[in-house]
Amino acid sequence: MGSPGAGKGTQAQLLQQDFDLPYFATGDILREEIKNETELGSKAKEYMDRGDLVSDELVIDMIRERLVVPESADGFILDGFPRTVVQAEALEELLIGIGRAVTAVVALEVDDEEAVSRLSGRRVCVKSGHTFHIEFDPPKHEGRCDLDDSRLIIRDDDQLGTVRKRLETYSKKTEPIFSFYEERGVLLRVDGSQQPDQVHAHIRALIATVRFEETV
Ligand code: AMP
Repeated sequence: MGSPGAGKGTQAQLLQQDFDLPYFATGDILREEIKNETELGSKAKEYMDRGDLVSDELVIDMIRERLVVPESADGFILDGFPRTVVQAEALEELLIGIGRAVTAVVALEVDDEEAVSRLSGRRVCVKSGHTFHIEFDPPKHEGRCDLDDSRLIIRDDDQLGTVRKRLETYSKKTEPIFSFYEERGVLLRVDGSQQPDQVHAHIRALIATVRFEETV
């Protein structure tokens, strides 16, 4: 978990490489639905463009169908879900139903000004979704992805007004989940303002202290 710009995607991808687990990012799944012009995508787009959350029901269904498949049997990494208390409760219920539990919730913390500066310089590859930052992690050739030379674009919801709204939504709707997971003893707070490799090392050190499902 983390506010927009906290580095959720970057850190989740590093953890995915460490643990080789399926990775589900609700934001990525929704953007894919929009790109493919599906019904779900058209329902989600107006909320996302405004910086609002899409409906709990919609994202819970999206996650449910991904967690019950054999590929998820050894565990999974969730990025950007849950984002409301209703989603956290639904996830808990869903996991109880399949005899599982959340073992670690990483909360990446950065202040709002840092988040705004990261998001306003973010550029995303239209094809692979790989992200760059014009100042902190610039591509080799301006406007082109290093990996496949595709065009780099600004995400619709990275416009300044929308970013402010997303930050407000995060503090109102998502931060209340912290106490939900604190009560369950699984919340790991991490300073997200450091360099990505330092944040990653910190997360790995904290995860090493976690009791995994089979020992709970
Ligand atoms: P992200 O890529 O995680 O920043 O998500 C981009 C946008 O997708 C968010 O601003 C929301 O509009 C929507 N979204 C992603 N995940 C969720 C979720 N779990 N619940 C509701 N809306 C979500």
